[in-house]
Amino acid sequence: MTYQEMDTQAWQVLDRAHYLHPFTDHASLRQTGSRVAVRGEGVYVWDTEGERIIDGLSGLGCVNVGYGRPELVKAAADQMSELSYCQSFFKTTHRSAVTLAEKLTSMLPDSLNHVFFQSSGSEANETAVRLLRRYWNLVGKPQKRVIIARELAYHGSTHMAASLSGITPMHFAGGDLPLPTVTHIKTPYQYRNGFGMDPEAFGILAASWLEERILEIGADNVAAFYAEPAQSAGGAICPPMSYWPEIQRIGRKYDVLLVVDEVVMGFGRTGKWFGRDFYGIVPDIMQVGKGLTSGYLPLSATIISDRVADVLIEQGGEWAHGYTYSGHPACCAVALENIRILEEEGIVENAGKVLAPYFKAKLETFADHPLIGDVRSVGLMGGLEIVKNKATREAYDYEAHIGDHCSAEALKRGLAFRANGDTMSLMPPLVITTEQLDTVFDIAREALDATAKHFGVI
Ligand code: PMP
Repeated sequence: MTYQEMDTQAWQVLDRAHYLHPFTDHASLRQTGSRVAVRGEGVYVWDTEGERIIDGLSGLGCVNVGYGRPELVKAAADQMSELSYCQSFFKTTHRSAVTLAEKLTSMLPDSLNHVFFQSSGSEANETAVRLLRRYWNLVGKPQKRVIIARELAYHGSTHMAASLSGITPMHFAGGDLPLPTVTHIKTPYQYRNGFGMDPEAFGILAASWLEERILEIGADNVAAFYAEPAQSAGGAICPPMSYWPEIQRIGRKYDVLLVVDEVVMGFGRTGKWFGRDFYGIVPDIMQVGKGLTSGYLPLSATIISDRVADVLIEQGGEWAHGYTYSGHPACCAVALENIRILEEEGIVENAGKVLAPYFKAKLETFADHPLIGDVRSVGLMGGLEIVKNKATREAYDYEAHIGDHCSAEALKRGLAFRANGDTMSLMPPLVITTEQLDTVFDIAREALDATAKHFGVI
């Protein structure tokens, strides 16, 4: 059978036989089969059945400028034609990586002047931890090793990134995780950790959990606090505005470095260029990925402050860390073109000023839905938390898989709508229109209603 002759079922058979999917229950996948995507344009993806799906998730929070932009294809093709690959290990560099490094630092505070490239967010977090180790060793404080991360954090799937992550199924039995120098504190998840409190007072309380843990461990043993500006995979957990200033005050007080994982928030998700712009954060190390290339090619960047980089450069000797694809020319060329599109078309500005308030207002109309206990959002990332009992905030049993049920109901109706636990998440491409957002929310409501019926709630 040729490629063109294969129908959906034929693809599903091959998929089942050979392709192990990420973060997937393969027994369940065997029963349902995969949807086979074939084409994307703007905010839509089409499958082999000719069904059109509106992508409420920007792929995985990455396709910020939407699918099918010819300029990005051209940027990759031009770079590949001219110089398809270049290593930067042996005193060699190339123009796309240098230009992108300079561009990124020009978009950030004056203290952030150095960039290291990798292919994924997970690898960026590996780099950050190796930098922390190297930094504290070089400044003569090798005992500063513990990294304080948060519950429900997501930082990636390599050993250290999964250790930093606070989504406990990732530390599955026998997986030897988390690694010994990582500890987790509670997160600014007001619905579960500070219900009914004044939000700003709750932000201060949530930050105090960092100070408490530093004091328990001893500041001399703590390398860094590690966090996403707002948490996406953990279930759209958005801190009150008082949280980050207080976290930074505590970090400075105990000389604990601040690592901010902007892999999802970077490049406009909050309606500002970076989550740090939205919350007023000045990190020592910061990671971006995903929206850096709008997902057209894999690229992440670890952006490093002078405080850390100067020590590494002046005293470090060889920095024995790097990847074959660090600063891959085509990926860097695509990132530059993607940033140009975001800037010249005012996409981030529009997301913040026009789309985000519309998105928030629409999301809030779900507060009275019989399944929804909490509604949360920042910029174009939002979550609707499903609960069994709105009065007591009791959750459904994990085995009920109610979020997955809702997600399947949405997909049947043409919307990619993700369940993060029982929080239904949306993070549409930043180029979505208000009319398209209406469609997203209409389908989301139908999916929630169908789920409520299935579970006997309405
Ligand atoms: N950090 C955050 C905040 C993420 O959400 C993710 C991916 N969802 C990662 C890191 C890991 O990125 P990758 O999947 O590219 O390794």
